[in-house]
Amino acid sequence: MAAETTSPNDSWVQRGQKVLLGNYRPMPITLVSGEGARVVDADGTSYVDFVSGIAVTSLGHNHPQLIAAIRAQAGKILHTANVVWNEPAIGLAEKLVAKSFAERVFFCNSGAEAVEAMLKLARKVFFDRGEGRFEIISFDKSFHGRTMGALTATGQEKYRLGFEPLLPGVKTVPYGDIQALEQAMTERTAAVLLEPIQGEAGVRMPPPGFLKAVRELTQRHGCLMLLDEVQTGVGRCGTMWAYEQEGVIPDAMSVAKGIGGGVPLGAMLTTTALGAALPFGSHGSTFGGNPLACAAGCVVVDVVSDPAFLAKVKGLGEHLLSRLHQLTRAHRKIVVEARGRGLLCGLELNVDLAKLPKQALAKGLLLNTIAGKIIRFAPPLTIDQATLDQGLDLVDQLLMDLSSETRA
Ligand SMILES: *Cc1c(COP(=O)(O)O)cnc(C)c1O
Repeated sequence: MAAETTSPNDSWVQRGQKVLLGNYRPMPITLVSGEGARVVDADGTSYVDFVSGIAVTSLGHNHPQLIAAIRAQAGKILHTANVVWNEPAIGLAEKLVAKSFAERVFFCNSGAEAVEAMLKLARKVFFDRGEGRFEIISFDKSFHGRTMGALTATGQEKYRLGFEPLLPGVKTVPYGDIQALEQAMTERTAAVLLEPIQGEAGVRMPPPGFLKAVRELTQRHGCLMLLDEVQTGVGRCGTMWAYEQEGVIPDAMSVAKGIGGGVPLGAMLTTTALGAALPFGSHGSTFGGNPLACAAGCVVVDVVSDPAFLAKVKGLGEHLLSRLHQLTRAHRKIVVEARGRGLLCGLELNVDLAKLPKQALAKGLLLNTIAGKIIRFAPPLTIDQATLDQGLDLVDQLLMDLSSETRA
């Protein structure tokens, strides 16, 4: 290869490596544009997008309504802060209240902040009641974000190492183990925090009835159930919220990732009674409820909450999972299991996947692996079946290559 010519991709990678913190290890491409469920890099190569910026670009790329709303809002007012009211924030809160269990919304800018808001809510609820409850119980392998509170609740040693001491009063128990949870609960327990499906852990499913058992247990113990729907919410699992499929209503819920369609936006949803624990001055965010982000959120919630749209996501999800089951059978030497719900699926392998994302790029597929040996499937919710199948055919080829590599 002629060493003198550097491709636009390579040149960006070199520049980025000099000035950005080394806390990420991006694939060696720079994305510059996208259309629907396809993205294009700086060299002009196009890929099927099975990542969606980690379950964020829920409406795909360059969605006409979303882009129009962002453009229109940008031409009106970008930011107001919460010293005044703004229309998009009120409009979006009304939509979220109409489409969920919640009666009150707190806006922020990310998943971690939404989780922080839930943790602060739980502590403050019991402080106000004078009950002396402050402990939070979360689960092994969970992921709740990187800020100190959310990190404390994150049950993965690798993320916590070097940042201790973390928040006191937070403990973790095995996900899915209701007995361990019951044993861990004390008269000091303020809340149990969990994901309806553990996304970053590798799309780990709860045992059937687990969320319901957590709901019953928290109710019996007089503490809160905090649900982290940052990854599972906003249609990702084929219903507006994952909790709808579990027959439970949480006390509070964190939302982010897909809700802005690609614009940074997070929210904490709760009831009026519990929300009263965070009155004037108790919590806040300068950017929270930003009109630009909320204008985007309004379009995403309108599009996704349409029953016909959700039915389509559910159908596509069933198709995706059944094809992943087929791939599991076809490549049973290297594939352990396929699992997931809606357009959030995982394929667990028993071989090293370090090279897979790059091999996928070479075939025209943007793919991401998590928790070591798991491929996560989180395409835009707007993907059509033909594009989904195209991507899955490429996964089939990749698995074939991996099988022969393993045999060699
Ligand atoms: C991604 C994620 C977070 C953190 O969101 P950020 O926007 O990165 O802070 C929290 N909880 C869950 C379940 C997530 O998947």
